[in-house]
Amino acid sequence: MAADILECRLSSLQYDYIEKIRNINEKKSEILGRPVYCLTHTYGCQQNENDTEKINGMLEMMGFVFTEDRSMADFILFNTCAVREHAEQKVFGNVGALVPYKRKNPELRIALCGCMFQQPHIAEKVASYQYIDLIFGTHAMIRFPENMYRLLSEGERICDISQSESVPLEDMPVRRENKLKAWVTVMAGCNNFCSYCVVPHVRGREHSRSPEKVVAEVKHLVAEGYKDITLLGQNVNSYCRDLALDYDFSDLLREVDALPGDFRIRFMTSHPKDATKKLFDTVASCQKVCKHIHLPFQSGSDRILELMNRKYTAAQYLELIAYGRKKIPDVSFTSDVIVGFPTETEEDFQATLDLIESVGFNGLFTFQYSPRKNTPAAVMEGQISKEIKAERFERLLALQNQSALRFHSRFVGKTLRVLVESVQENQVYTGRTDNNIIVNFTSEKNVINTFVPVKIKTAKNWALFGEIV
Ligand code: SF4
Repeated sequence: MAADILECRLSSLQYDYIEKIRNINEKKSEILGRPVYCLTHTYGCQQNENDTEKINGMLEMMGFVFTEDRSMADFILFNTCAVREHAEQKVFGNVGALVPYKRKNPELRIALCGCMFQQPHIAEKVASYQYIDLIFGTHAMIRFPENMYRLLSEGERICDISQSESVPLEDMPVRRENKLKAWVTVMAGCNNFCSYCVVPHVRGREHSRSPEKVVAEVKHLVAEGYKDITLLGQNVNSYCRDLALDYDFSDLLREVDALPGDFRIRFMTSHPKDATKKLFDTVASCQKVCKHIHLPFQSGSDRILELMNRKYTAAQYLELIAYGRKKIPDVSFTSDVIVGFPTETEEDFQATLDLIESVGFNGLFTFQYSPRKNTPAAVMEGQISKEIKAERFERLLALQNQSALRFHSRFVGKTLRVLVESVQENQVYTGRTDNNIIVNFTSEKNVINTFVPVKIKTAKNWALFGEIV
């Protein structure tokens, strides 16, 4: 029997709080003779971006008007990421930089939320910063209106970091900045416990949204004119496993692919241990699903992969890549890789370079290992020095640049279908192919948000350059 689908949505009580805040803001706006401004900023992954869009949706309903200018803002919120130490340090630096704004405008309210604050040691540290008014973790987003109301009406400082499970939020107001690209969360949480990662600790276990809800959201986005829709989850390949439905991520891809309209479907992230031949066969046969797979390998050394608790070997990973290349013409692969995991030897690192060389990734998200509190890897013996990590990192980047150039060069002379995303000066347009390669070209006609054929003239490691046909 299928398990219950856990869903979370704003209660009528929370909508009442939104209405009350709207009244507060209307009165404030009358007194100030201007709108009440808010500013939000997101750190980290697309899932976080998608969460911020939901927060922004609530703020808009509360009557806030968005600004990019911190000195004008009456409310500032940072949605944070806990995945890397560097990202956390950046947040601390940027939070400290808000102090002068608060001094100048004591009425300014500052909120911090997201994965970082799902970690009690961080929340405790920041709670002592008197200029921060509201702190909440990922699980408390559903109470954001109530917490905001208490903050605005009673001036109470609030810290809400309950440790309940992170359940996908349904039927939320959403404010999307981008009119071309949209993210759709298909599942929340992660069950994998890779030894270096805090995600399962801060986001909780996997919970899938029902296929009907996901398909309905995609349908709605297509009707609104979105052309590039990304399905998001920490490990989309285990989609629906928690629901015990006879339905998986490939089935979902087929369903959204069958929806009418000219649009693209992307997805991330795929864990190699759960990537099946069925997934590759599905990508090969679907018209709208992009021929691009983000498949994080993390290390080319089996010994390190075991220490990371990744549950696959380099050979198994390469077998998947070979199958994908055979089935999906011109498929591109991107990946995440960690340099300097505890005990990584020169030989282990060489295995990582060998893997990069043999796959030929279109792009790599490269990270120097940084210990995350309360993860097994943080207390492993054999931590690697900063210098060695930095030196290996440089070598890896140099190899990846050559490897990407080699992959991109095969498209010179071909005509590719490009979805145009932006325009710079001199009518230089930038877009993406369905296999996720950036293409630059000039056009006298405004071609933003359209699909155009571009003949490729030259290739660089970061992009292709061509002429509109
Ligand atoms: S699969 Fe591993 S790295 Fe990815 S979110 Fe889950 S625990 Fe973290």
